Amino acid sequence: MSEDAMTGRHDTPVHVVVGAGQAGTAAAVAMREAGFQGRIILVGAEPHLPYERPPLSKEVLVKPETAHTTIHPEDFYREKGIECRLHDAAVHFDADEKRLELASGQTLHFDKLLLATGARARAYPLLDGLGSGVYTLRTLDDAEALRGHIWPGRHVLVVGGGIIGLEVAASAVTMGARVTVIERGARLMARGTPAPMVKVLRSLHEEHRVAFELGAELVSAARGASGKITLKAADGRAFTGDLVVYGIGVELNMDLAISAGLKVEDGILIDEYGRTSHPAIFAAGDVARQFHPFSSLWRRFETWANAQNQGTGVGRAMVTGEACSFDVPWYWTDQYGHNFQVAGAHEADEWLRRGTADGLKCTLLGLRDDVVVGAVTIDNGREMRPLRAMIANGFRAGNRDILADPKADLRKIADGRL
Ligand code: FAD
Ligand code: NDP
Repeated sequence: MSEDAMTGRHDTPVHVVVGAGQAGTAAAVAMREAGFQGRIILVGAEPHLPYERPPLSKEVLVKPETAHTTIHPEDFYREKGIECRLHDAAVHFDADEKRLELASGQTLHFDKLLLATGARARAYPLLDGLGSGVYTLRTLDDAEALRGHIWPGRHVLVVGGGIIGLEVAASAVTMGARVTVIERGARLMARGTPAPMVKVLRSLHEEHRVAFELGAELVSAARGASGKITLKAADGRAFTGDLVVYGIGVELNMDLAISAGLKVEDGILIDEYGRTSHPAIFAAGDVARQFHPFSSLWRRFETWANAQNQGTGVGRAMVTGEACSFDVPWYWTDQYGHNFQVAGAHEADEWLRRGTADGLKCTLLGLRDDVVVGAVTIDNGREMRPLRAMIANGFRAGNRDILADPKADLRKIADGRL
């Protein structure tokens, strides 16, 4: 391999991936597995080998000794011939010149570039103004910083009743802390969670003595002489605790794409091959928005499964030219040792329950015009695969008694044997 640093001429094709997260790593691996013989360079701003984010709000806080976050060991990248340039952010690229600049001052020339830059925690200046005692959770470093500040008896104020908020609340309670969740909206998990599941989650948290303060728009944040933090809401409510963790959504890492002139609209727009508005530039993961055949809508997902599958699909498409395949959207959350999985649509005319009185364990089927459009499993993940097939195939509910009977095998129902 030779490279002319001035002109960028190189005799081996080069694919550069910006963002060494779930999507970027999956894409780099998929390129190699699809037979790409050239150089693959994985550029990551963070100092760590690519890691999984789901454990950050769960095991990394509660049971760090058993937490496994690294996606692949270091040797794996060597064996696959994937060059990791970590702790070095991409700061600029020229799509036509096919040139990428890194913060370290290095320039990389590429034939194709994939943007898998994900997102960062949305900042809350009112709270950040307090300085210490205020945490967000997006990175491994964030999780490790937070862990050392939660212990039995601490009172954690969680701002944002979304998925980060509830997972952190469950972990903090498990670590012995007392938790108040402060949410400005009228309901919890408003973005993308079926209402019956929210109800179960709320009861579960209340059983663990989590206090919920809904409809609380914060107007001030102050630290008292004792070091305690007091947050005040517009309606006069005041909440005092030892530390604040906030999760109020994300901001997409799209600056590179915007300054390169790519088309963006709540995400970098990509076609079915993962291609952006420039033919040599691709995107995948939290940052990418693609037309989704199941909903016939342009969708962007902030889930592990989407990052993994779309990253794999786009990485492969960059080599083979084959279009990505599309899965029914799916995610999970683990709270207090219970596993919740959600697939397909979050809104339905009716939620049909399959379950016994055996703890929380059950499945909920979301029906619209008698067709299964969404599903939730609670401690019943083994039913997720047939449920996703039913959603993908537009399964007609028909006989509700069989569907609702937990003893009737869902795999057989899904493929018409029952
Ligand atoms: P990211 O994981 O955000 O990775 C993007 C990477 O790009 C980052 O490492 C970033 O530093 C890097 N980067 C950004 N800009 C640059 C640049 N200019 N140069 C170089 N590198 C750059 N989903 C689930 O389905 N289930 C769960 O239980 C779950 N739990 C989660 C828990 C937490 C705490 C978090 C934060 C997320 C969780 N998710 C979960 C969501 C899931 O982890 C994300 O959807 C997924 O990580 C997105 O992957 P990504 O590769 O698109 O982006
Ligand atoms: P979410 O968008 O899920 O939730 C944010 C919540 O905060 C919303 O309820 C929002 O309400 C609320 N909020 C926004 N602004 C304020 C405010 N000023 N005061 C009080 N509440 C406010 O984002 P998260 O931060 O929870 O999650 C961030 C990312 O992490 C997402 O990409 C998510 O997918 C990922 N993640 C996924 C997990 C999983 O899938 N299991 C687990 C953990 C994280 P409103 O609707 O009114 O704006």
